Formats: sequence, C-alpha cells, structure tokens
Amino acid sequence: MEDCLFCKIAAKQMPAKIVHEDADTLAFEDINPQAPTHVLVIPKKHIPTLNDVAPEDAASMGHLFATAALLARRGGFAERGWRVVVNVNRDAHQLVFHVHLHLLAGRAFHWPPG
Ligand code: 5GP
Ligand code: ZN
Repeated sequence: MEDCLFCKIAAKQMPAKIVHEDADTLAFEDINPQAPTHVLVIPKKHIPTLNDVAPEDAASMGHLFATAALLARRGGFAERGWRVVVNVNRDAHQLVFHVHLHLLAGRAFHWPPG
C-alpha cells in the first residue's frame, strides 16, 4: 500500500514516535495530540476502514484493544480513565484510511462526544 501513510510508518519509511510494537501491531504518538496522551494503535496489515474488517481479522482487531489496555496500564491511567475512538469515513472525520484506534488519556472527556 505504497500511498498509505500508516503503512509507511509501519514499514519505518516514515518517522514516528513509536511506543509499542509487536508482530501484528504498532502504536505511536499522534502528531496533533487531542489529549495529554494521544496514541494511535494500528494493525500492520492495511485495512482501510472498520467497514473492511473481515472475519479473519478478528484476532488482530482484538489485539488492538489488548494493546490499548496494555498501554493504559503502562501509562498509569487505567484506573482514572481513558478513551478509545475509531473514526469511520466522512461523517466521523476519518482522514487516514488505515484502521487505527485513537487512545486518549490524561484529561476528562465529554459525553456524548461532539
Ligand atoms: P482520523 O481522523 O483518520 O481518525 O485520524 C488520523 C490521525 O492521524 C489524526 O489524529 C492525525 O493527527 C494523525 N496523523 C496524521 N498524519 C500523521 C503523521 O504523519 N504522523 C502521526 N504520528 N500522526 C499523524
Ligand atoms: Zn495502510
């Protein structure tokens, strides 16, 4: 996926502040943070949106959430609270078409979201 920004980050062809990596998953700091902690957690496999998740991606998707929880414990904000956001397509302002969890923490969040 040569035109995909997050594939390039996963392939180390673009720099990023990586906070976690394993065989299937990469987590790195968002370049425009919306909270004191704002990390993007991605599958290394190119999947454009949640609409495109196939049954065989289920374990990988579960691993994204497990990675977010690992980072929450490691960051010391698991008990206080944190948020995961996944934007899908235009109405949700998805800008990068490679599935990513936004892991947000370090402040209180509004509910319902805007
Ligand atoms: P989306 O709107 O697609 O859900 O979120 C895309 C996110 O990627 C945004 O929060 C944006 O700040 C972040 N982003 C865009 N370009 C880059 C980049 O080159 N590096 C990093 N680390 N984050 C990026
Ligand atoms: Zn990609």
